[in-house]
Amino acid sequence: MAPSESFKVPSSILIVGSGVFGLSTAWSLCKNPLFENTSITLVDRQPFPCPDGSSIDTSRIVRPDYADAAYTSLASSAQALWRTTFAPSFYHENGLCITASGLEQTYVSSSYDNVCALGSCRVQKLKNEEEIKQVCGTERASGTVGYVNWSSGWADAEGSMCWLCKQVEARNRVHFITDTVKKLVIDHSTNTVAGVQLTSNTTLTAALTILAAGAWTPSLLDLRGIAKATGQVLIYLPLTSTEQAHLGSLPTILNLSTGLFAIPPSHNLLKIARHGYGYTNPVTIPHPTSTNSSETITISLPHTHIDNRTQCVPSEGLTSCLSFLSHIHPTLSTRSIQSSRICWYTDTPTGDFLITHHPTFKGLFVATGGSGHAFKFLPVIGDKIVECVMGRTPDEFKGRWEWPEKRVSDEEWVGDGSRGGPVGMVLQEETEKGALERGSKL
Ligand SMILES: Cc1cc2nc3c(=O)[nH]c(=O)nc-3n(C[C@H](O)[C@H](O)[C@H](O)COP(=O)(O)OP(=O)(O)OC[C@H]3O[C@@H](n4cnc5c(N)ncnc54)[C@H](O)[C@@H]3O)c2cc1C
Repeated sequence: MAPSESFKVPSSILIVGSGVFGLSTAWSLCKNPLFENTSITLVDRQPFPCPDGSSIDTSRIVRPDYADAAYTSLASSAQALWRTTFAPSFYHENGLCITASGLEQTYVSSSYDNVCALGSCRVQKLKNEEEIKQVCGTERASGTVGYVNWSSGWADAEGSMCWLCKQVEARNRVHFITDTVKKLVIDHSTNTVAGVQLTSNTTLTAALTILAAGAWTPSLLDLRGIAKATGQVLIYLPLTSTEQAHLGSLPTILNLSTGLFAIPPSHNLLKIARHGYGYTNPVTIPHPTSTNSSETITISLPHTHIDNRTQCVPSEGLTSCLSFLSHIHPTLSTRSIQSSRICWYTDTPTGDFLITHHPTFKGLFVATGGSGHAFKFLPVIGDKIVECVMGRTPDEFKGRWEWPEKRVSDEEWVGDGSRGGPVGMVLQEETEKGALERGSKL
């Protein structure tokens, strides 16, 4: 796509973050002849693959099943690549069964309509628990209404990210650096970002800095009312090879009333997680871009097993995942889990991504706001980010991916209608209520 008339190709681009948003942007830039003379640097606080990044895990659902037709269409274009040229050995098309505990969960019916409208999906409506149970191959049904889309699947997240990293490295265009960005380098007299300062006290300069630091992005830029980190629970259950062979061929199960889901196991591990409102982790930090050094802001930021090696999932979250497991697979419910984890979404008020030039700071672009659903777009999101860098936001995402006109208070965050489970939980409070040890039984 041709850039907008005002766009000038930057001589240097610095990307902060090697997750889905950052790595795919690097990939798109090094394929695009327009940027052949641009130097590209990617910095991450962790060596690749980042152990606590939200893009690195055993699995991620790949689905065009969205209540919003624009994301259905974008996911469908990503899926066409997953099926063919993009990390195909890491993509598995087992189907996805989306259920709810009642018709009031309207995401399910809108999503059904959108995938049917695509015309290319093998979709089957499920009218009752018996039909759901049969399709999912579970001992009990995960909901009372729903549908299965046999054309949806899942990807090995770490495997496909490593595959993409190799593609990027093979181009020999991107300079990878492992260091933590402490802050943006800003010339406040011209409101221009000239790069970043690292914790090692070196400075990286660039004509354009792209912040793609996932749930940590709000520590580098004031995103209050625009994006925040929410912690989501995951548990991994060990399986025998016989169980792996059986469950490995079944569809992913997602109940949108509770947010609980189970992705088909791989490497003898079954993953249960919750697509919920999550935990916030409020911390007070110096304002990241203020000229007043005593100004502070209070925001939610990730707290991970890298920050605290003994971090446990709060018992509330663990119990929720284990109850789901014991409901759908009662015979597995007495087994000890292998591990648990809190993984951090970068939520926005509407669930839309934030892919935009900064409205005030020249030389700064933001690519984040994955809102718990960006992984599936790995094959295409870098190209979309570069289009937005060039001033060509796709029409269907104009006013949605762009810098919002107003900051929204927490109570007004409507989301995209896909979340289930408890609202308003704070990580520390839930942890203090009691964290069950890893390996606990229900
Ligand atoms: C539990 C869970 C389940 C999910 N399930 C699905 C799913 O089924 N399907 C789907 O499509 N999507 C899913 N998602 C969403 C998807 O994984 C995310 O939207 C996507 O991975 C976000 O990528 P990112 O690049 O924004 O963040 P990340 O992958 O977290 O990358 C950010 C990077 O920035 C680096 N960084 C942060 N701060 C700094 C700093 N100061 N200096 C240098 N580097 C820094 C971090 O180390 C990290 O590597 C899920 C997410 C989670 C957490």
